[in-house]
Amino acid sequence: MSKGSINVSVENIFPLIKKFLYSDHEIFLRELISNATDATLKLKHLTSIGEAKVEYGNPQIEIKVNKEDKKLHIIDQGLGMTADEVQKYINAVAFSGAEEFLDKYKDKVEDAGIIGHFGLGFYSSFMVADKVEIITKSYKDEPAAHWTCDGSPEYTLETAEKTDRGTEIILHISEGEEAFLEDAKINELLTKYNKFMPIPIKFGMRTETLPKPEDAKEDDPAPTQEVDNIINNPNPAWTKQPADLKDEDYKSFYRELYPMQFEDPLFHIHLNVDYPFNLTGILYFPKMTNDLNIQKDKIQLYQNQVFVTDNVEGIVPEFLTMLKGVIDSPDIPLNVSRSYLQADGAVKKISSYITRKVADKLKSLFNNNREDFEAKWDDIKIVIEYGMLSEEKFFEKAEAFNLFPTVDGKYYTYDELYNAIKAKQTDKDDKLVILYASNKDAQHSYIETAKAKGYEVLLLDSPIVSHLIQKLEASKENISFARVDADHIDNLIKKDDTKISKLSEDEKTKLDDILKAVIPGEKFSVQLETMDSTAAPFMITQPEFMRRMKEMQQTGGGMSMFGNMPETYNLIVNTNSTLVGDILNTEDKDNQERLINQSLDLACLSQGLLKGEALTNFIKRSYDMIK
Ligand code: ADP
Ligand code: MG
Repeated sequence: MSKGSINVSVENIFPLIKKFLYSDHEIFLRELISNATDATLKLKHLTSIGEAKVEYGNPQIEIKVNKEDKKLHIIDQGLGMTADEVQKYINAVAFSGAEEFLDKYKDKVEDAGIIGHFGLGFYSSFMVADKVEIITKSYKDEPAAHWTCDGSPEYTLETAEKTDRGTEIILHISEGEEAFLEDAKINELLTKYNKFMPIPIKFGMRTETLPKPEDAKEDDPAPTQEVDNIINNPNPAWTKQPADLKDEDYKSFYRELYPMQFEDPLFHIHLNVDYPFNLTGILYFPKMTNDLNIQKDKIQLYQNQVFVTDNVEGIVPEFLTMLKGVIDSPDIPLNVSRSYLQADGAVKKISSYITRKVADKLKSLFNNNREDFEAKWDDIKIVIEYGMLSEEKFFEKAEAFNLFPTVDGKYYTYDELYNAIKAKQTDKDDKLVILYASNKDAQHSYIETAKAKGYEVLLLDSPIVSHLIQKLEASKENISFARVDADHIDNLIKKDDTKISKLSEDEKTKLDDILKAVIPGEKFSVQLETMDSTAAPFMITQPEFMRRMKEMQQTGGGMSMFGNMPETYNLIVNTNSTLVGDILNTEDKDNQERLINQSLDLACLSQGLLKGEALTNFIKRSYDMIK
């Protein structure tokens, strides 16, 4: 037996480890299983090149809990270590790694979240154990070694009896860390971090039901047998070639990733690059809702099949964090802060590669089966629109598949829309006016009015649409968007107006005075228009610009000054309508006022603007009128 002192400059490394990694104690298991996996894969490699002349077999990694003796065992059948190698790799290498880590991070404890991503390696076991043993037998023809360390720089190293190849790590769990002796806790950790690791991981046994023998009687119980309980799927779908996978395989992998998710994904994107960086993965488009926040943090980041985090912010472009799935890359630096990550060249390349792949996939889905793409549009538009707003490259590519649905369920690309309306929907300055509604019910009467004129009305109802049309207007020449109840629509009305006014200019001036005496000027700006006599007498529109700025404010962005502006509306008065003629000609002042108020209230009502006291007054007045 030999004794020694580990050569570290940090006097007592263990209390430090415990302190710094307080919140991330659980990662020790991930680290030890990673080491066991590495050791097994190294042996696989050595046997495959003939370097190790042993049978590789079907190695597995076993986790055993001994609650009584407060011990946790991690056992592998990998290449093992000789006594010399323990000296070298455990006493020297592992410690220097731990020291370097602490050196780097001891001042940055508050930068939470980064430490857990970065393994302290073997020494993280001292976060939960006050004594650690390694019993290891190398594949080489040398005796097994037994290393023991109680958390001080002193260790012992002696020969051991172990004859089968591989390494057993024994953790003597410290007081206060007994949670790691609970089966349920270990199960939870294995499922979280090791679900897709490449070597089978055994934890306990489970009962498997076998098929009944042919001659079994009706109520004979089915036979059972005890089998190893394997926690992981060593060959997850993302590690395979797309050509070897069917649609059903992708769906079942989705269910494996999200067992609580009952809805199938809409489609998937298989990522696979090895130059200039290494990245594999599968992204899924789930059905989206209009709520942007609840669906984040669903993409899982792996490094060589080891789970790292489900916060992929900075690695995946923001708009794609709404997707689900996995990304696996050894090239993503995990031991750095998020802000550094965003500036990192490799990470930037990864992010733009993912964006491009997603755009390409959307384009091919659109080209290959437009009908299906249209059917899915409502569920995916939020991602596409968000992407167009936030990533210039994606904006350019999305031109090919971004759709503009109409209120009647037709879908246009931008070019198609342009061609469809360019003959009709230009205003007096020859600017193309694209009409849209954001709510079919609330804007029903406006939609009908616009359609009656032969205009195409889009249905753009996602929460960020005001931002998007602002961007489209800026990037295209000579177009403007106007909601059906917006003031721009007046320009269209004016342009095609060939109506002859029933009122003389003098009468119009008189009408204007009468209206303004009753209608509150701070809220409504009265505009007299010559329209069809059958069109509504009063109609309320809202300045497009003002409304859009207010909406943009609510969803982030826009110019803040508009958020606080009072709501103002245009009141369009149809001078050709009979009712407006009556208002003008009534001698009875009371009746005149009543007609104006009633008409104004009706116009407000159709915009959903009549509330509170105004609504109460309206109802009372209406009853009075029908009495
Ligand atoms: P890293 O895994 O990053 O090299 P660790 O501190 O986790 O750092 O491990 C240090 C070294 O100890 C490993 O590189 C390996 O050589 C050796 N080692 C650790 N665990 C095992 C094991 N289960 N089997 C064989 N060697 C191991
Ligand atoms: Mg390691």
